[in-house]
Amino acid sequence: MDSASIIKDRRALHQIPEIGLELPRTAAYVENALRGMGLAPRRIGDGIIVDLGSTGPLFAWRADMDGLPVLEETGAEYASTIPGRMHACGHDAHTAMALGIARHFTSGGAQLPCRLRLIFQPGEEGHRGAAFMIEGGALEGVAAIAGLHVGIFPELKKGVFGTRKGTVMASVTAFEVTFRGKGTHGAMPHLGADALLAACQFGAGVQTVRYAATSPVQPTVISIGSIHAGTASNVISEKAVLAGTMRATTVQDQATLEARMAQFAQGIALANGVEMEIGSVVGAPITANSDERMVDLLAAAVTAAHGPESFMWLPDPTLGGEDFGEYLMRVPGVFFFLGADIAAPHHHPKFNVDEEVLEKTVPVVDALIRQWAALN
Ligand SMILES: [Zn+2]
Ligand SMILES: [Zn+2]
Repeated sequence: MDSASIIKDRRALHQIPEIGLELPRTAAYVENALRGMGLAPRRIGDGIIVDLGSTGPLFAWRADMDGLPVLEETGAEYASTIPGRMHACGHDAHTAMALGIARHFTSGGAQLPCRLRLIFQPGEEGHRGAAFMIEGGALEGVAAIAGLHVGIFPELKKGVFGTRKGTVMASVTAFEVTFRGKGTHGAMPHLGADALLAACQFGAGVQTVRYAATSPVQPTVISIGSIHAGTASNVISEKAVLAGTMRATTVQDQATLEARMAQFAQGIALANGVEMEIGSVVGAPITANSDERMVDLLAAAVTAAHGPESFMWLPDPTLGGEDFGEYLMRVPGVFFFLGADIAAPHHHPKFNVDEEVLEKTVPVVDALIRQWAALN
């Protein structure tokens, strides 16, 4: 087993976290490592795809490579060397595991039962990296795909893999609402139009949109993360801007909430005599394991590799988001999770993974593609 190499790669990548779609140092590291195994990686911007094997249907494995604008506080000897940037979501571990898979089928000597494409993706953290890779041809010829995230579900104990059928992660829609009124003296609000009051009503009241428009047994979230308005205690604000995130676990709820939030904002604007604008951007679609056969194959692969106690059916989706859903909308596949004794929540300055568990992914992928190839 190749634990030492995976940990070495993970630590090297951890020290050079890069953000978004531009990951020059990370991409160079991955490219060099793959070349060192005798492979021929291809670039899609700072993303990389590499094909292994020469016959049979094509299975793809995806790893994301980007970090976050977070100042690391782990105190680890391999901590980030770039101030204000950190691998705080475990994508360094994902990349290292994918390199471990490549090594397993090259210098490790394991025979491939089909062709295997490794997709190293930039820009997962809200930069539409999956769409970028797909536009660049990463899915051409791909018959099925799988990918994994460390942690996310705290109920997954160290070294235990888990997933569920149907939605595993929510859609992510960032929205911004602007109210424009008319400024005036705080003592004479009737002479102006109070944009801040409208914003407060929207922020407090928007939860009723979920209550009124979506089923209570289907999880959704609307959170307001920022509100900006006003200059002084005795001046009525002429402009107020709220920004938030909306998460849904069905495509229908995603569309319903987007429409009903806009109606709600319009109603509040009307009641307050102010103007309103609302804009939204879908950061990630729903990540749905809609091909149940692929999910069953994954459960069987984990069991074959590590025994039944290493697999857990997750009862509920998370309202966290992932752009892996972009791949699952186009080809059959499965997205799953590995319990990694996460030290602090994802995106936290003290986030860290237990590196010992990373090697466990390689035999799972080996078993998964063997069982998949036998059926295809
Ligand atoms: Zn993240
Ligand atoms: Zn992540």
